[in-house]
Amino acid sequence: MSSGDGAGSNGRGASEHEVVIVGAGFAGMYMLHKLRGLGFDTVVLERADGVGGTWYWNRYPGARCDVESMQYSYSFDPELEQEWSWSERYSGQPEILRYANHVAERYDLRRDIRFGTTVAQVDWDDDARQWRLQTDRGEYRARFVVMATGCLSTANVPQFEGAETFGGPTYHTGRWPHEGVDFSGQSVAVIGTGSSAVQAIPVIAAQCRKLTVFQRTPNYSVPARNEPLDPAEQAKWKANYRELRAKMFAERAAMVQRLPDGEDPAKEAGDDEFCQRMEQRWEVGGFTFYRAYGDIALDPESNNRVAEFVRNKIAGIVHDPEVAAKLTPHNTIACKRPCLDTHYYETFNQPHVDLVDVSETPIERICEAGVVVDGREYPVDGIVYATGFDAMTGTLLRMNVTGRGGMRLADHWDAGPRTYLGLGVAGFPNMFTVSGPGSPSVLTNMIPSIEQHVDWIARCLVDLRERGAATIEPEPHAEAYWVDYVNAVADLTLYPTCNSWYLGANIPGKTRVFMPLPGFPPYVEICEDVASDNYRGFVLT
Ligand code: NAP
Repeated sequence: MSSGDGAGSNGRGASEHEVVIVGAGFAGMYMLHKLRGLGFDTVVLERADGVGGTWYWNRYPGARCDVESMQYSYSFDPELEQEWSWSERYSGQPEILRYANHVAERYDLRRDIRFGTTVAQVDWDDDARQWRLQTDRGEYRARFVVMATGCLSTANVPQFEGAETFGGPTYHTGRWPHEGVDFSGQSVAVIGTGSSAVQAIPVIAAQCRKLTVFQRTPNYSVPARNEPLDPAEQAKWKANYRELRAKMFAERAAMVQRLPDGEDPAKEAGDDEFCQRMEQRWEVGGFTFYRAYGDIALDPESNNRVAEFVRNKIAGIVHDPEVAAKLTPHNTIACKRPCLDTHYYETFNQPHVDLVDVSETPIERICEAGVVVDGREYPVDGIVYATGFDAMTGTLLRMNVTGRGGMRLADHWDAGPRTYLGLGVAGFPNMFTVSGPGSPSVLTNMIPSIEQHVDWIARCLVDLRERGAATIEPEPHAEAYWVDYVNAVADLTLYPTCNSWYLGANIPGKTRVFMPLPGFPPYVEICEDVASDNYRGFVLT
């Protein structure tokens, strides 16, 4: 076994392993644990100084998971399930990070994780049948590379003119200072109104002297109804974990809702029945709201009826009709990632909170004193960029991956990401992507999705070892089929109808392709079927 710190050096200064995993978030940690148990010499490269991935970086005020705590955790070890206790219905970032650290500790993962190590270049060496990874801490070589780099791990900071001239501090929600930020007595700008902003705005508003929110697109948000976790609820899960996990895995988003999914069409419901059902779900809180009827994500008329319900709620919550109008979205509901909040719309009733609509007159520039829109200067002490991520492909492309014959991943993905099952890429042998584009990933509860990918990859590596196969990679026709399949499934839904990061529409110049695959259970079945059918669509050598 090589250690990555010289013990496994190949004599040319590189550290050699069977498997290199990039990323020590929930995907990388479980992949390491799993492969170690199967006897693979594995090392993880992680640019942060600690484990946790998303939950290491996203420490902004109010950061919290939208998936309920009892479901946002690993299922691979019943002892781990029993020994960990959650405190709230939805866990806050500090608690999830504590859980990640507990897992790292419990399975002694850190000894095989190289922290503070950034991967800059990843090349397939066809002669040696090996990957070479250049990092800022030396070279690593491995037969297999697992990209456990997360779907939302490269921050998007818009290039506003004059941004560098701003006199105060700036923050991105996904790169929040570890020591925290005290906004007391300050005037603060928040740019963006996506999920991160919807969580951060009420908490920042509670602390600062003045808050100015710059909104390009208003967002639908539904109350999360966070609360201390009912001990009886926790006990119920712990007593029935196997059955409830099986239920989660059978759900299209890999999570069980508090209320059963409605199957009937929203557009056909009588007015009273519709109001009653939507009110109940608004009160219960969480994603169950978006599952009230079977066709919300499929039928424009039904979708608009549900959207109108939220629009009316906004009008009822926000006192100033002008502000309410600005906050009211008119696009398809839930075709961007749905938001859950705690007093988001209510925050705009506070006298020290202002909303600036930049949909028609974009942010013109940033100056030393603050933000300029339509010739007017908004002076602030600090700027919070809640402007999202170069999702799903940003981190992979930033690592300059080249495959067979020096083919650049960036060129292969010029017209949008191409994968087979979201797990492999044609021309890039022995490279796996956990939650890669083309897999359900961000449309699901991420941890079960990650576990399914990790288990599939581990099974594949064992099968290759048993067969004495040196490489595996998707056949180009299988990849082409999969790209068409993902598009065809997405086109059955309303997802592609608005400018979301699912489509890459938030990054100037990024090709617009719907990247995740809707529907978890059918996907899992396909993956199982492919593996059992001698890795149909992959070439093994
Ligand atoms: P996001 O959803 O992409 O939102 C970014 C916001 O910044 C949008 O309102 C966007 O406006 C705005 N923006 C971007 N560029 C701009 C510009 N040049 N001028 C003005 N506004 C600009 O990013 P996010 O809020 O960080 O969320 C990303 C994803 O992370 C979520 O969708 C979710 O999957 C995940 N997340 C999850 C949780 C959770 O589980 N609780 C919490 C936070 C995030 P447009 O809409 O007009 O583009």
